[in-house]
Amino acid sequence: MSGLPVAPRWFDRRRVDDSITMLVEPHVHPLLRSNIWHVRGGERDLLVDAGCGVASLRDAAPDLFAREPVVVFTHAHYDHVGGAHEFAERWIHEAEASSLAEPEFSTLVGSDLPVEFHALLDEMGVPMPEALVDALPYGGYDIATYDVVPAPATRLLREGDTVDLGDRAFTVLHLPGHTPGGIALWDEDGGVLFSGDVIYDAPLLDSLPGSDPAAYRATMRRLRDLPVRVVHPGHEPSFGRDRMIEVIDAYLGPGGA
Ligand SMILES: [Zn+2]
Repeated sequence: MSGLPVAPRWFDRRRVDDSITMLVEPHVHPLLRSNIWHVRGGERDLLVDAGCGVASLRDAAPDLFAREPVVVFTHAHYDHVGGAHEFAERWIHEAEASSLAEPEFSTLVGSDLPVEFHALLDEMGVPMPEALVDALPYGGYDIATYDVVPAPATRLLREGDTVDLGDRAFTVLHLPGHTPGGIALWDEDGGVLFSGDVIYDAPLLDSLPGSDPAAYRATMRRLRDLPVRVVHPGHEPSFGRDRMIEVIDAYLGPGGA
């Protein structure tokens, strides 16, 4: 693992539209490579999730963070909250707040991952990597020392709460299944859904510790009725409503809708 190269930069970023920028950690293994969304608002900015925390997100995009954003976490898995400690405003659903204050599990060592991930890679015919990064953020970085820094929530979110940016507002949808306090942020006027790990265009994980398949099915049926224009997920590329329905129906199976 010490033979890994040093990455010239840790984050890639892409402008999605006039207000939305996506950041991602290309050197993190695809299983953990989560999307980070920055939304420039009229009166305040929003960050949806904060990546693994291997390298400083703030330092990577000082222009975006010149104004302190509100950070909303879709859930407390470490690939989404690792960068939490870098930000002053940290909002998360009340059911996941304890995991932000006292991070439960994090690793960059492949063999330490839960069995669910081993099974997933087996299915894909891909061996479990020794390291969950293919580069280091700087010379001398030791992946064995990786740990998520505790960063207690500053506001607890519930179903129906509003995250108001001035010129646009998002409604908190509580969508359990992947995790107990998983949320999505819904901009009804724009038809934009930031979905975290509730839905993304790859196999959905419903048997991790804390997952609840029955709740996940109810969540999927609820999402199916949402008049979405675009979904910006926690992993993999964005997609539209037609693809969302396909992913939901594939999860629910025949007669599940
Ligand atoms: Zn997750």
